[in-house]
Amino acid sequence: MENTKIGFIGLGNMGHPMAKNLEKAGFFLSVYNRSVEKANDFKEKSTVYTKVSELVENSDIVFTMLTNDTAVREVYEEIFMVNIHGKLFVDMSTISPEASNDIASAVKIKEAGFIDAPVAGSTKPAAEGTLIIMAGGSEKDLLRAEPYLQKLGKTIRHLGENGKGIAAKLSVNYFISALYQGLAETILFSDKLGIDRKDMLDIINESASGSGATKVKTPLLVNDNYEPAFALDLMLKDILLANKAGADYPLSKTLIDTYQSAHDEGFGKDDVIGIINYLKK
Ligand code: NAP
Repeated sequence: MENTKIGFIGLGNMGHPMAKNLEKAGFFLSVYNRSVEKANDFKEKSTVYTKVSELVENSDIVFTMLTNDTAVREVYEEIFMVNIHGKLFVDMSTISPEASNDIASAVKIKEAGFIDAPVAGSTKPAAEGTLIIMAGGSEKDLLRAEPYLQKLGKTIRHLGENGKGIAAKLSVNYFISALYQGLAETILFSDKLGIDRKDMLDIINESASGSGATKVKTPLLVNDNYEPAFALDLMLKDILLANKAGADYPLSKTLIDTYQSAHDEGFGKDDVIGIINYLKK
């Protein structure tokens, strides 16, 4: 294990702190990010590549944490330019079941391993190494990835074959999208009735309606500052993916309408709880 060469592609809001945890754990790490400046603070202790293909050639296990289907497909096109025989790929992005399964099949044809391992938890758990990892793939591949996943998450749940990790992730984010819209509407309602936001959020967080999700969004709502930890556009992506995968319930239409309209009106780059500014209008 000490000599295993780890590659990490995608140093965004999530990928950066996750890769930092692998670096801190002392693994032999290489990183790549499309915008090169995000890799600057890896130069001292890890190897920074400016080409995906070079990172893959020099890695045994490659993690990817990228925006969406397009990003993951583009990166894997470059991955497939080199001989990947015997390597293991762990995609932690939230993407469609179709894209994930296509890539899993293409990887396995080349006699390499693939795990879909998306995560629950935002940038704070990513930095603390306390993500919840939902994994789909073979027992053997998961065992091989485990020492590294243990540095990223507090829970690693093996849910079955390829695609099951993505399935669980789309399900949990369906719930969170409803929860955030509900929280934003509740805060607007209590604003209207003259209740101080901090008081209201303290009550929510101390009551049965509070959760890790409501707690993490409390400072953003109190300070009315929506610097993105999880961008609203990413939540829209996830609701649309869930809907395409079969989430077709009374709330689905409302959630799609709200998050899509918020995106159309320019709130997509804000944090997801910035949905409150769209709902306020
Ligand atoms: P992010 O900050 O926007 O980072 C996205 C990463 O993907 C960046 O490294 C970006 O590179 C890269 N990328 C995008 N398009 C690319 C392309 N065509 N080729 C190569 N690289 C590309 O997003 P994030 O918040 O880290 O989220 C990453 C994934 O985790 C998403 O699927 C998201 O749904 C999921 N997720 C996020 C959270 C959260 O709280 N943020 C929580 C759980 C799961 P550049 O820097 O060059 O743009």
